Parts: sequence; structure tokens; C-alpha cells
Amino acid sequence: MAEETKLERMKRLSLKQTNIRNIATSAHIHHGKTALTDNLLAASGYMSSKAAGSLEEGMATWLHADEQERLMTVDAANVSMVHTYGEQEYLINLIDTPGHVDFGGNVTRAMRAIDGTIVLVCASEGIMPQTETVIKQALRERVKPVLFINKVDRLINELLMTPEQIQQRISEIIIEFNILIEQIAEPEFKQKWKVNAADGGVAFGSARENWALSVPFMKKKNVSFKDILTISKLSVQEQQDWFWKNAPLYEVLLDMAIKHLPNPLEAQKYRIPKIWKGELESEFGKDLLTCNPAGKVAFIITRVMMDQKSGREVSAGRLYSGTIKEGMTVYLNNAKQSQRVAQVLMYQGVKTEILEQVSAGNVFALMGVTGSAGETITDAPEQPFEELKHIFEPVITKSISPLKPQDLSKLVEVLKKVGKEDPSVKIEIHEETGETLMHGMGELHLEIIENRIKTEKNVEVKTGPPIVVYRETVLKTTPEAMEGKSPNKHNKLYFIVEPLEPHVRELIKNGEISEGRIKKKDLALRDTLVEVGYDNDTAFAIKDIYKGSIFIDETRGNIQLSESIQLVIDGFEQVIDAGPLAREPCFGVKVRLIDAKLHEDAIHRGPAQMYPAVREGIKLAMMNANPVMFEPVQTYLLEGPLESMGEISKLVMNKRGNIIESSQEGSQCAIKARIPVAEMIGWSSAFRSATGGRGDFSLIDQTFEKVPAELQEKIISQLRIRKKLTEGQVGA
Ligand code: GDP
Repeated sequence: MAEETKLERMKRLSLKQTNIRNIATSAHIHHGKTALTDNLLAASGYMSSKAAGSLEEGMATWLHADEQERLMTVDAANVSMVHTYGEQEYLINLIDTPGHVDFGGNVTRAMRAIDGTIVLVCASEGIMPQTETVIKQALRERVKPVLFINKVDRLINELLMTPEQIQQRISEIIIEFNILIEQIAEPEFKQKWKVNAADGGVAFGSARENWALSVPFMKKKNVSFKDILTISKLSVQEQQDWFWKNAPLYEVLLDMAIKHLPNPLEAQKYRIPKIWKGELESEFGKDLLTCNPAGKVAFIITRVMMDQKSGREVSAGRLYSGTIKEGMTVYLNNAKQSQRVAQVLMYQGVKTEILEQVSAGNVFALMGVTGSAGETITDAPEQPFEELKHIFEPVITKSISPLKPQDLSKLVEVLKKVGKEDPSVKIEIHEETGETLMHGMGELHLEIIENRIKTEKNVEVKTGPPIVVYRETVLKTTPEAMEGKSPNKHNKLYFIVEPLEPHVRELIKNGEISEGRIKKKDLALRDTLVEVGYDNDTAFAIKDIYKGSIFIDETRGNIQLSESIQLVIDGFEQVIDAGPLAREPCFGVKVRLIDAKLHEDAIHRGPAQMYPAVREGIKLAMMNANPVMFEPVQTYLLEGPLESMGEISKLVMNKRGNIIESSQEGSQCAIKARIPVAEMIGWSSAFRSATGGRGDFSLIDQTFEKVPAELQEKIISQLRIRKKLTEGQVGA
């Protein structure tokens, strides 16, 4: 009998759900994710071992030129490999996610495709702020973490630690890691998902030197901590031979992933209720929970790429139920259209292979389907998956236009593609004015996008200055209901607004309360809100949860209103998108509709009448509730040579920032600082000169803070001038 080809083997394994692991690696920047991924690949025989871990020889996961320059992996790349554990073969789909939080969108999307992740922590630096961020991102999607403590060679060679000290350092990191799990995980996972060195949920080693160990593996191979130190004294060649025999990185890590991370069958049981809010008892719901290959199709796109060869879009993602076959017609629930699957592609190493079909539980790609990341693909219209939430929202905007006016339509085309490839950048195209805006998470983020448009898509562009996106909210409750009247004067609505309770905001932000319009009585939502102090009636009167604000209809038995309620909600969303102070987006506003007197005849209360009435009423209510501007503030970790500490501090102070923490280790300093985004323009070059080009900064957190009182007026009037808003345009 002819020997099974690699492709045949992959096909066979893709059918065996218990032997599939969909995983990623996540870490603070520079903790060694790229080195690890490349080593795993090399070991699988898809890359030459020689190239692994060395920048010079080019890394398989580095698909874009600008990443090599910046030494960061910007896009999550998929790879698949086969590993034997015990007597069985397993198919491992590994998604490489970026370490830099500026592009956190990529990380969150990847989480939707996987069930487990290997969190890397540098043994010398320990748990860093971004480690916490990536754990949050994983746990929010119910993705189970295991721990790999990397760069242990530094403890040996640089810090000259004894075996006892190394052991001590490793257990400190494990304790700290478990404290984070305890803090972040939902109650049912707090204990279950803590890692334990004794049972092999923790590995440690060196991605650079290509070795790793875990307690069970050390027992199996009869290796001790002392041995590692002895080995480190050998020649490089001898070391490599020893490591390859006694502590091969890929074997220890893939064993750990197989043993401790769930297969799709197990994972979907508890992940589906978190990421899909439909009826679990329905046929579709049951298919999802059981990862049913014979069930209805449910595929979520987590990443859109351009195929370099054909120039066509490739949509990578995870199939949660059913089987996708070449040539079949599928339905895109967000785009609301049917499309034909031209090809089904599975990863084989970093390359793709064409298959006739792939079944539930796998991560793979579709050609011919052109949706955005986050799209739910099914046979017929179904309740889509929960929206993919990014931890940080875009806060910087730049206008962009082609250098040659005749390139406009080409640019629009390119921007639409860019928006699909990287949903953490939002593209806004005003077809009528020709104005095109890019929203991103920082200046550097937009620069990378801009370069990509220039170099990969060959469109010469010019961009406007970066503009900060503010937020509007209210601090008080409107003293009495405010009236909004329709242009025909036949419809009057009365509103009161107040600040939304911080704990409710938090529930929305962390996804425990889903956003969206509420059509029928939502018992789960009611229960959640009653728990935080809402009464039953108010909880049931919530009609819309939109971008961190809520709309409550407190009227009773008004037939005209119930006919027009969707228009009222539209009007509410319009105000939340463009508030009364300067048409910036709003957040944390609780809008209560107190009363409505509407015309009996629906003809007199169409959108042209209702929208202005609702907008006027809500905006007036907000103007009487102490409205204020909030600005985005980012927390950064700034690292540089010790002698630049003074310069970095000075820079932070000059930028209206404040230092939260500073520390030094060896010849390096690390400063944690909060800086308003408005002051971050030009940051990269200022920071480069403060650190002599030897510094590094990474985004840890982003919040909105009240603009200082003395700047409120100034910022509002600047925004109004830029947007050409005249005085007294409240209801417009
Ligand atoms: P990423 O940002 O998490 O992808 O990190 P990289 O894989 O790019 O690694 C960042 C830096 O740390 C590079 O200079 C690597 O060569 C180095 N590095 C990675 N793993 C190790 C390791 O195990 N030991 C040591 N000493 N350095 C490592």
C-alpha cells in the first residue's frame, strides 16, 4: 500500500475532533513568541532548523516587510502541524498573535478561533502588564491558558542563578500567574484553570536555545535542574545535542498543549454560551454545543487576507459546526448576502492546500467568500456570533486622500480591503464629500497602515494631521423632562438623561451584558440587572444598549409609540454617535423616555419627523445634565537605558502625563506612565530622541478621562470650528 501523504494525514486528522487542538501563543512584546513559533514550525519539518530563531534568515510568520523593520509581528498567521503524543497523532492549528497591544484587534480576533493558548513569560522580566492584557483577552473568550516560562538561559548565563534560585524564580512566576487567573477568570474557571507545575501545565526553557522542560518530562527523562546548569557549560554543539535528546522544545510544548488544552468538542460546550447568544436548545444551538460535523454550518471569519498570487481575498476562521464543501452556497449574516465558496484551504505548515471539504472543529480558510472579520457564515440566516470586542477602541483619526485625484476610486477600494484585513482600523468613507477617514489605535498604528497602502497596494496617498477622538457624557441628571418636537409639531417626546451606573458600564464593557436592540423580554438581562440593583420593570423597559449607553422606554400602553419605537431608538443611536457638545461619540449615558404624544396617523410620524424630535429632546436633556468632554488617556510602559530615565520623565511631564511607577533593572529603566492621547502626537520621534533610539514603548491600557476643566471650553470650540458647527445647533 502506498504510504500516506502529509496531506492525506492532515485530512484524516481533521475529521478526528478529539485529536484537534486549536491554539495560539500570547505574550508581552519581546518575551519570545516569534522565536517559539518558528522553533515549533522548524521542528515540524516545515522550516529548516537553521533558519529558526535567527532574524537574518527570515521568519516564516513574517509576511509583511514593515514588520521585519519594526521587529514586530503585526498580523496573526496560521500554521498547522501534526504531533504524536502517547500512541496518537494530533492536529495542531497554531495561530501566531502579535505581542504589541497597539494592534490588540488582531489578538482578540484570533481568540475567537482557538480554545487554548500558551502564554509566554520571560523568566527574567516576569509577568508584565501586557501579560495581564493577553490573559484578559483569552479568558473573556473562555480560551484556556497554559504557561511557558521562556528565556531561562538568561537566569543561567546572565544572572548566574543556582538551581535553587532558578526553581524559586519559576515558582514565583507561577504564583503570580495564578493570582491573575484568580482575579480575572469567571467563577467556574478560577480554580480549574490555575496552572500547576507538577502535572505539566507549566513548561520552562529557552526558545532561543530550542529547549524546554516540564516536571513530568523531567521525571520521564530523569533530568534535574542541576543537569541544566552542567549542560550550559558545554560547547554549543554539545548543548544542542543534549537538548535535542533530553529537552526538545517542540515536544515538551506540544505535549503540554495536547494534555492541558481542550479539544474543540470539550471546549465548545462551555465556550458557545459565552460567544453565541442564541437559543441553546434550538437545533442550531445544539449543533454548536456539540461541534456537530453533520449539523448546520457555523463558521466565523477571524482574519481576512489577500492571496498574494491570485490577489483574491482569503477568509480564515473557525468552523464551529457542520462541514464546508467547495462550491457550496453560504449565507453571511452581517453582510446579509449569499456567496459561493470557491475553495476550501487548509494550512499545512505555513502553506495552504486545497481540500474538497473540512468539518467542524477546524481552523482553515475560504476563498471566494468576501466578508469582514467577525462575520458569521451559515447555511441560512441564523443568530450570528457575538461581536468581536477589542479591548481598546480606536482613538486617533486621519483623513487620507490619493495624491492623484484619478486614484480616488482605487483608494476607496484599497481602504475597504484594509478595513477588512484589520478591523482595529475603522474606515469611514463619505461618498458625497469624498472625505475619507481612517480611525486607529495610535499614530504608529495608522502609519503602518499608510505604509502598507503605499508599498503593498501601490497607491500614493497624502494624509491629514492626526486627530484625537473625544467622548461626551453627562455628570448629572436632567432636573425635569426635556421636550423634543417634530418639525410638523404633531409629535412631542420627553426625555431625562443621567449618568449610567459605573458597574453597569463595566458589565457592558466586559461583555456580560451584550449590546444591541432588545426585541422581546430578555430574562437573562433582567436577572443580571436586578442583581446590580435595577427593579424588574426598569430592567424590562430597556430597549437598546448601544456603545456603552442605554435607552429605557418608561412610557406605558402608548400604541403610536410602540409603532414608532424603532425610529425613536434610531434617533437615540444618532445622538450617541454624535453628542450635543461637539458631535463626538457619547458613552455612559442613560436615556429615559418619560412620555410621548404622537400623531395618530403613522404618515405624520415618519423618520423625517421622528428623528429631529428625538435628537432634540435627548440633546436638550443632555445639555441640562452637566455635559462634559472626556479624552482618551493611554498607559504606556516606557523602557530605555538607565541614563535616559531623566529625559523620559521630562518628556512625560511635558506631555501632560503622570508617572505611575518606575523601576530599574541592571542598565535598563522601566517607567509606567499615563499620557493623554492628544499629547501623544509626534511621540515616536520625541521618545526616540529621549532614549537615543534605544528605548521601547508599549501600550498597556486605555481609558477615557475627563478633560481638565480649564481645557473643556477650548477643546469643544476647536472641535466645533473643525466640524464647522455653528452655535445653537443642538437639535440639528
Ligand atoms: P516576540 O516579540 O514575543 O515575538 O519576541 P521575539 O521572539 O521576537 O523575541 C524577542 C527577543 O528576545 C529577540 O531578540 C529574541 O532573539 C530574544 N529571545 C527569544 N527567546 C529567547 C530566549 O529563550 N532566550 C534569550 N536569551 N533570548 C530570547
